[in-house]
Amino acid sequence: MDPKIKIRGVNFFYHKHQVLKNINMDFPERQITAIIGPSGCGKSTLLRALNRMNDIVSGARLEGAVLLDNENIYSPNLDVVNLRKRVGMVFQQPNPFPKSIFDNVAFGPRMLGTTAQSRLDEVVEKSLRQAALWDEVKDNLHKSGLALSGGQQQRLCIARVLAIEPEVILMDEPCSALDPVSTMRIEELMQELKQNYTIAIVTHNMQQAARSSDWTGFLLTGDLVEYGRTGEIFSRPRDKRTEDYITGRFG
Ligand code: ADP
Ligand code: MG
Repeated sequence: MDPKIKIRGVNFFYHKHQVLKNINMDFPERQITAIIGPSGCGKSTLLRALNRMNDIVSGARLEGAVLLDNENIYSPNLDVVNLRKRVGMVFQQPNPFPKSIFDNVAFGPRMLGTTAQSRLDEVVEKSLRQAALWDEVKDNLHKSGLALSGGQQQRLCIARVLAIEPEVILMDEPCSALDPVSTMRIEELMQELKQNYTIAIVTHNMQQAARSSDWTGFLLTGDLVEYGRTGEIFSRPRDKRTEDYITGRFG
């Protein structure tokens, strides 16, 4: 099957500073693809390129193509709002809105025009169930999202993304602000979500990449040094720099 997303010949600049160099990488459908590499190597920039979140940064410029279902998301007539509906994002710091749990999850559907209460009830429950949070919050849907624990907040943010029925979920170090138990719950959740969604995750936690992803790309100062099956990257890296990184010699 053709990959859900294909990055082809991407160069990326912040003003004159080139932070991604001729990147070619695939994100197979209903698989988890991890992007690993030391701080500042361009992981977040690469992830944000997948739903044009860098567009809002002044001086940011991308060359090359990012194909979603074989359509270049950088073509001038592409509808960016629709793109971000198809490719949702979860951030490093859980960022619920200062609203109720219900209103956090209903936010996207309301923005997209859903008004019927019965339909909103349905979407909120379904999304919270998918995010493995429903049982913990079902009696408190009108409590503030900010009153939840960090791990619950991150699952709330995942539910908020799921409510707009995306095809791809981008996660930028989604567990780095979480304790080990909450991290494990998010990792378990990712395994469930990949039945239905294509997932791209940035992580500087190599154990997490090795445990949870199907494919891994190793980025070093803007170069994709190595990309392949996670099992192979971690057991038989082809490049010395990959080997040095995964064995903890730097980074
Ligand atoms: P990572 O996520 O791997 O830590 P980033 O993609 O955040 O790396 O950053 C890659 C490089 O781009 C770094 O040198 C960083 O300083 C630079 N950079 C990131 N965001 C911006 C920005 N908004 N403006 C200018 N430079 C940026
Ligand atoms: Mg980053």
